[in-house]
Amino acid sequence: MVGSSGVGKSTLTNSLLGRQQLKVSAVREDDSRGRHTTTHRELVLLAQGGLIVDTPGMRELQLWADEEDLDEGFAEVEQLAARCRFGDCRHQREPGCAVRAAVDRGGLEEGRLESYFKLKREIEKLSRRQKQKARLAERATRKSSSGKKRVRKDLLADALEE
Ligand SMILES: [Zn+2]
Repeated sequence: MVGSSGVGKSTLTNSLLGRQQLKVSAVREDDSRGRHTTTHRELVLLAQGGLIVDTPGMRELQLWADEEDLDEGFAEVEQLAARCRFGDCRHQREPGCAVRAAVDRGGLEEGRLESYFKLKREIEKLSRRQKQKARLAERATRKSSSGKKRVRKDLLADALEE
């Protein structure tokens, strides 16, 4: 069970179970956001068969897909893209775009291409966020090590003065 906080994952699980096993709290009225009721993963066994994993929400999920998944999931788009005139074709309205040509011909559904663009955008956003996180972590490490050096220099200056 995956979804944003407060959408009712635990409520739905309880409903399927037929009893209140998972703690559910009311959604705050002021901003309609959940209270992060689920704080850990939980495997729930259903009496009628089947298992549900209740997760704390999307925050826990890291980069769940990459360019390779996109290529695999939309193999026909990628195959068409290989025939575009430009290697960096974005399949918008570039001349010689084989993907757009296939849509115009009816060989590729417009909706399918929209799904491809949507997943591509999501992957790029996730990738950017990951890189930014890595950069921030690196900067924090650098800052703390240069800070240490300064402290050491100060100690040396103090020692020389004494
Ligand atoms: Zn193209």
